Amino acid sequence: MYLSTLAYLDPGERPASVRDARQQVFFSDLMQVHEVAHQWWGNVVTTSEYQDEWLLEALANYSALLWLEKKKGEKAFESVLDDYRNHLLTAAGQGHSLESAGPIIWGRRLLSSAVPEAWRAITYEKGAWIMHMLRRRLGDQRFLKMLAEMRRRFESRSISTEDFRALIKEFLPPGVTGESIDTFLDNWVYSTGIPSLKVRYLVKSDAASWKLTGSVAQSGVDDDFSADVPVEIQFAKGAPQTIWVRTSGDAASFSATLRQAPLRVALAPSGVLATKK
Ligand SMILES: [Zn+2]
Repeated sequence: MYLSTLAYLDPGERPASVRDARQQVFFSDLMQVHEVAHQWWGNVVTTSEYQDEWLLEALANYSALLWLEKKKGEKAFESVLDDYRNHLLTAAGQGHSLESAGPIIWGRRLLSSAVPEAWRAITYEKGAWIMHMLRRRLGDQRFLKMLAEMRRRFESRSISTEDFRALIKEFLPPGVTGESIDTFLDNWVYSTGIPSLKVRYLVKSDAASWKLTGSVAQSGVDDDFSADVPVEIQFAKGAPQTIWVRTSGDAASFSATLRQAPLRVALAPSGVLATKK
């Protein structure tokens, strides 16, 4: 296993160009695990086309994040995802963000774009977000089962993005359709865009229940951008409840009947690669 020299240096000894929090976490905490994870994603399972290479980098990086979550807790994990989102939204000239350089399946072709930094940010950082959103959609158990099956089925073989699509569809929880996974891949993998989302809601109560109605408005992306986003309802007591809402160019509405008054209704933390408006 080969690691960059930067991984062996104390954070204070690293060159100024890699001293921001995002890169320090990468070289101190994530790089070694990322390279170990390539033993599965890259060595056991491979790809043959450059369009599919993102799968292995995204999985190696997300595996490292799963390790960070276990070792340093959810806050450290979510702060890396936050940094990734902010980095992807960095202005890269002419009013465009780094992320908008091209879809992740462009792979190495993103290197030859006008924004050379885009390849790394999109492949590693948006890639990790794609895996994370998939985990949220499938649930932890199904997501990890899917990865175990991927390793088993594609051992010493190459996997394509389309093989991956078919594999995900074998692990859908009740209520999630194959069409929802198609929308997911169409928007996050085959296209670009990080939406800005605004949740509005209203609660009306009678003697026995609370009627929640609300909407999610999307901006900052093309009108045809669409994503299933988790809206979390928090209560004074008990676990929060999640409603999945499909966004579009028009505000998407949702409703629920609740047995107790909600404290707060908002996008689930780190549930979707988006900014809050
Ligand atoms: Zn890698």
